[in-house]
Amino acid sequence: RQELYRELRDRPAVTKDNVAIDLNMNAGLLVDLPQLEDSGAAGIGLFRTELQFMVAAAFPRAEAQEALYYDVMAAAGEKPVTFRTLDIGGDKVLPYFKAGFVEENPALGWRAIRLTLDRPALFRTQVRALLKASRGRVLRMMLPMVTQLSEIAEARELIDKEVRHLSRFGHDLPKQLKLGAMVEVPALLWQMDELMKAVDFVSVGSNDLFQFVMAVDRSNTQISNRFDTLAIPFLRVLKQIADAGHRNNTPVTLCGELAGRPISAMVLLGLGYRSISMSPASIGPVKAMMKDLPLGDFSKSLEVLLSSGDVGRDVRQHVMDFAETHGIT
Ligand code: PEP
Ligand code: MG
Repeated sequence: RQELYRELRDRPAVTKDNVAIDLNMNAGLLVDLPQLEDSGAAGIGLFRTELQFMVAAAFPRAEAQEALYYDVMAAAGEKPVTFRTLDIGGDKVLPYFKAGFVEENPALGWRAIRLTLDRPALFRTQVRALLKASRGRVLRMMLPMVTQLSEIAEARELIDKEVRHLSRFGHDLPKQLKLGAMVEVPALLWQMDELMKAVDFVSVGSNDLFQFVMAVDRSNTQISNRFDTLAIPFLRVLKQIADAGHRNNTPVTLCGELAGRPISAMVLLGLGYRSISMSPASIGPVKAMMKDLPLGDFSKSLEVLLSSGDVGRDVRQHVMDFAETHGIT
């Protein structure tokens, strides 16, 4: 298989019926970067900036943040990189940063964009580091755990302030700034069109979205094994997001673990996703699946399942049967 993956690496990422798919990789540290070349990823769809904070003994200084972001972009060359702003709190704790209060439900608590908007100095330092590191380039930033559109507006205001500040002091700025939001909180599902208009792109964080849609703690295997990520209700949610993106001409991607498993990646393509981001080791297997996938036919069969009214249908089995019939391995 490794040989097949290596051979596929330099071939375009297209399905059997020639639909092009953007296959990106997730990363978070400098050691991940060689994978960009080795995996043949189109870019970095999710750069988890909190990892630098998690492996440090104290808050990384502004210079260290800027240096990392610069190195990441230098290594990526022409390939796009999407930096997620700090996603700390919840399951991602920093030993040197105590909230000063106890949270009974950290997953629903003071985390990600909620925390950074409450600590604007932290957010602005990171944004400034990103802006300085990406002089002359396109800077793609995305906000984690957005719940309401006002958070995007608030973040944008802080970003604009940094842009003004830097340009006043004669710094080179990115040639373009793109701001995206992660779809991880179900409340966004009822403001999809407004969300799509408020940002330049959207990325589905299916790990958290599944946790919140199904009310299933993502780290509790006692219950999580009970629920299938390919359950029809959840697939309807994912389809709703892809459709809203198409309707509003806003690029939509998905960067949760679902993207990296060939069977679920197949489903994502069937639902209309044309860009996904996964761990680098998954790119080969997903590309291998794609080369044998007649996406048009598969989408139609999935559409029938999703609208059949039998919401308990075993989609996973259906997809595996389809894969077997079509020689997809
Ligand atoms: C997600 O929630 O799907 C995601 C990509 O973010 P993380 O796994 O870092 O929470
Ligand atoms: Mg998440």
